[in-house]
Amino acid sequence: MSEIHIRRLSRSYGNYQALKSCDLVIPDGALLALLGPSGCGKSTTLQLLAGFDTPSSGEIWADGELLSDARNVIPPEKRGISLVFQNYAVWPHKTVAENVAFGLKLRKLGRAEIEARLTKALDTVRLGALRDRYPFELSGGQQQRVALARALAVEPKILLLDEPLSNLDAHLREEMRFEIRRVHDELGITTVYVTHDQGEALVTADKVAVMRAGIVQQFGSPEEIFEKPANTFVASFIGSNNEIRGVKDAPGTIRVGATALQAEDRSDAAAGQPAVLCIRPSRLRLCAATEPHNRLDGVVKRSAYLGEYRDVLIELAGGAMVRAFVAPHQRPAIGEAVSVHLPPVACQILDAPE
Ligand code: ADP
Repeated sequence: MSEIHIRRLSRSYGNYQALKSCDLVIPDGALLALLGPSGCGKSTTLQLLAGFDTPSSGEIWADGELLSDARNVIPPEKRGISLVFQNYAVWPHKTVAENVAFGLKLRKLGRAEIEARLTKALDTVRLGALRDRYPFELSGGQQQRVALARALAVEPKILLLDEPLSNLDAHLREEMRFEIRRVHDELGITTVYVTHDQGEALVTADKVAVMRAGIVQQFGSPEEIFEKPANTFVASFIGSNNEIRGVKDAPGTIRVGATALQAEDRSDAAAGQPAVLCIRPSRLRLCAATEPHNRLDGVVKRSAYLGEYRDVLIELAGGAMVRAFVAPHQRPAIGEAVSVHLPPVACQILDAPE
């Protein structure tokens, strides 16, 4: 177990800065998700954490020990880390047990110790009954469990997972998210999990670092990044989001057209400057045209029934489009004039994107 401190970590390839002065603290026993679109620097960060790569500047510390800086990198095998990749690469000609025990044999552990660790790792990922099977006799999800068991068997201080579920189909992916969280709860190994999938990050992580273009945009709990996004990039990357452009009136008030709306204000904009009102589609409510507070009026442009809710697209009086996820029994017709209530607690004023 380890507390990891990443300090002003940067990595450049030629003139291109893939990681720009990243600061993160990963508490002992926490699972951190590095979340962001392709090319934002997630794998670069993981490679640096693993010791496969040298930072251009900055430092990585674990439990008070300097693991990496621009001059010196402690090699991967001396870091107490295990890595699980997207291509989980279990050996096809070895059984489940042989796959998992491989790293233990390399470490020249005794037979009894190997058996104890093997049994524990297989039980943790619930593969005990399948120990004598070959990979071709396993589902994709089970093969990924083998890879996870192999990583756990060596009892790492730090577990690094690089898009571990990307090769699985959607259904299995969802199931394995809960599995990874369960295993983490059981073992409490400090873990860094790279993913571009916001659902995966929200389910598995204690803390999420949302990245864009080599910069950490926000670091917080899943609830914080969803409920209180730092900027419009985070707001729209995590879940569905409406961005309505307006002009800041006073702190906590934004004017959209002629309507002043109350919202939680996290923008730096001064009064009279452009800003953005953000609200999740699930927080908008259809309301009466007489609703006196935080109401906008518009016309229904599209309405799609999705079973659990109805996804309604509304063109507001000023021309902006918003989506509202309403109860499925509500059936606003295309072309119908509707009003929506935007509860102030669900509204955020954020800086307008550059
Ligand atoms: P992610 O994992 O978020 O998809 P990466 O960390 O792999 O992103 O890459 C970040 C950026 O750095 C990308 O633009 C990528 O093209 C670039 N990059 C990564 N590795 C190299 C390399 N060895 N040489 C040059 N550019 C690289």
